[in-house]
Amino acid sequence: MWLGWRYGVVMLLAAWPACGLQVYNNFYSPRNPEREARTDTRYIILHTTEAPGSSALPKLSACGEANFGVDTDGRVYRIVDHRRTAYHCGRSMWDGRVNVDDHAIGIEVVGYHNKEVTRAQYQSLGVLLKELQFRYRIPDERVLTHSMVAYGAPNKWITRSHRGRKRCGMLFARADVRQKLQLQSKARFDPDVRAGRLINGDMYLAKVLYGNAREQEHLLAQSSPAGASVVSAQHSVWDIARDSYRRADTIYIYPDGTRRAGNQIRDWQAVPLGTKVQVADTSPAADSGSTADEVQVIGVDGATATEIAGDEAWSASTLYLLRDGRFLRGSQMPVPARDKLPAGTRMLVGYSAGGPVPTARLAQEVCGARWRQPDTFYLMPGGTLKSGREMGNGMLAKGTAVFYRN
Ligand SMILES: [Zn+2]
Repeated sequence: MWLGWRYGVVMLLAAWPACGLQVYNNFYSPRNPEREARTDTRYIILHTTEAPGSSALPKLSACGEANFGVDTDGRVYRIVDHRRTAYHCGRSMWDGRVNVDDHAIGIEVVGYHNKEVTRAQYQSLGVLLKELQFRYRIPDERVLTHSMVAYGAPNKWITRSHRGRKRCGMLFARADVRQKLQLQSKARFDPDVRAGRLINGDMYLAKVLYGNAREQEHLLAQSSPAGASVVSAQHSVWDIARDSYRRADTIYIYPDGTRRAGNQIRDWQAVPLGTKVQVADTSPAADSGSTADEVQVIGVDGATATEIAGDEAWSASTLYLLRDGRFLRGSQMPVPARDKLPAGTRMLVGYSAGGPVPTARLAQEVCGARWRQPDTFYLMPGGTLKSGREMGNGMLAKGTAVFYRN
């Protein structure tokens, strides 16, 4: 045990300026060999695990969902090599660039989005940031939080793609917190909301991220504690659970004592005021999305295309997977067909499509490094849908279509 721990200790990189930072390899991810080297590194994204290190760090390692983890005792763990792509942002955009993982180093700080981290964490995270910023020439204003870059597809509450999908890492936008990390400047506004690419889906979050120091203090004082919250006229299910609302492990306890899981609720309007919501543990492994969340089905719980995709139902980035094995973009869907889409039609919102491929070829040639991601999908000639995780060596049969997040 002792020996293993000793040998786990290595210096970050000998060529970096000597700073004395030790990086531990105890959680070095088995996913490393399969991850592409990034060709562009312009951001550092800070996350909070929303779970203790004892559960979060092994999950991050198993799934390769961060480049570094910083535990409460200040220890820095290498998870995915800093030169390779870690999957930590999920659906994300910043300044018009989508899939921020392709442009960023991800650091998971063990802690919660609305709670102070430890002194030891401030200290070692500060040193780690300095090292990485020096190495990649990343200015302070490009040290961002996951909550800044994550965005959501339209849902029952918000009919357009929106910021506010997550509050992860929110505290690292606070002026006092950045000061402790010796970050002198920060992004002053949300470039994608300003440019109209997204709308703002979480007013509270936007104020914490871009308010001045006094506003931030004031807001945090009124922030509700983590854990169970109650649906009220002021707090919708969406306000409380954000993008975890439909999950099987988000639990709703109605005032009459009835318990429902997020995936069992059909009519969201009918969730009574006074319902207690226990939001699922939004640990990192849940971040990159699962098949169940991405592929939506018309007719399930009576859902129509516009209920699922809102204003983006008929846009080119909403894909319809027809039962006969073909697919259509929303913009190609003839108007008369829109009202008659049969139950069972599968939908992907916020996606690009490649193919069907005219001859057998490698998936990488169609969608690059994303080919093996769990939220990349393959529509086989017979109509079967597979996720990137199920794709073996990535050789696509003639006629396979590829869908990947845009
Ligand atoms: Zn995060």
